[in-house]
Amino acid sequence: MARRRVRRLGRHPVHGCSRPRHGHAPRYPLPVQIDAIGRDGPHWQVDGTSFDALAIALPAEQAAPLLRPVHPAFADLAGQTPAAPCWTVMAAFAAPLPAPDILREEGPIGWAARNNAKPGRTGPESWVVQAGPDWSRAHLERSPSEIVPLLLDALATRLGQPLRTPLAATAHRWRYARSGAQGSASLWDPAARLGVCGDWLLGPRVEAGWLSGTNLAAAVVAIERQPVACVERLQPDPACPAAARARPQCRA
Ligand SMILES: Cc1cc2nc3c(=O)[nH]c(=O)nc-3n(C[C@H](O)[C@H](O)[C@H](O)COP(=O)(O)OP(=O)(O)OC[C@H]3O[C@@H](n4cnc5c(N)ncnc54)[C@H](O)[C@@H]3O)c2cc1C
Repeated sequence: MARRRVRRLGRHPVHGCSRPRHGHAPRYPLPVQIDAIGRDGPHWQVDGTSFDALAIALPAEQAAPLLRPVHPAFADLAGQTPAAPCWTVMAAFAAPLPAPDILREEGPIGWAARNNAKPGRTGPESWVVQAGPDWSRAHLERSPSEIVPLLLDALATRLGQPLRTPLAATAHRWRYARSGAQGSASLWDPAARLGVCGDWLLGPRVEAGWLSGTNLAAAVVAIERQPVACVERLQPDPACPAAARARPQCRA
């Protein structure tokens, strides 16, 4: 029996997800471009600030150079998991295009959608046209103004008729759009107190990024709650000062 594919659409801009919840301010002022990380004895140094532990949540290509000097094994994994690029055109038109709401894999087009047809959206006829990975790679270093007519021509070809001049059109290159899948939920080195998460560990979807991040958070919290002596022996340790809040093995 054929299985129905379920797709979910966010109603709000994605950047809304990153706002602090319940009024708590982030511990670190954002956004900040981090160009290097280093050690200061047992601590991590990031942009002049010391941290007990570090979680790197970046695309593989951006994580690898930061990790290389401090954790070559994690850097290697990131280096072996490249992402595919995606050129995207957004265009608005004065009248509806003669097209279904979604188009898939047609020539240069990997996926295209009528944005104003998404639930809860209004406004003029507007389209998002994403090029496929091969086409995006082949045209990676072209300028946005070159990409707009190329992808709109592809859309016209798909629709079998010329498009009217758009009211507005722009292109954006997502260099690390479709991540690879390294195969671990997250990476965590308890000795170094260094973790890595991101979609590239599990696959190219936003839920993979979320799952990877929560997996790393659980690993960090678990190790923080374990007294070192108990972790090594996995036995009750009455001398352990943190036994009361430690894992069940320690409380027995
Ligand atoms: C065009 C496009 C369309 C997509 N459509 C979908 C979709 O329909 N459905 C879906 O499930 N997924 C989709 N995805 C994938 C989804 O966006 C990702 O899977 C998800 O965002 C990965 O989350 P992440 O936290 O791993 O990484 P990211 O969201 O990439 O977060 C990494 C962050 O690190 C920041 N950063 C990078 N380098 C540094 C540095 N040196 N210092 C400081 N900060 C840095 C970046 O600016 C970014 O904010 C799409 C992606 C693209 C590009």
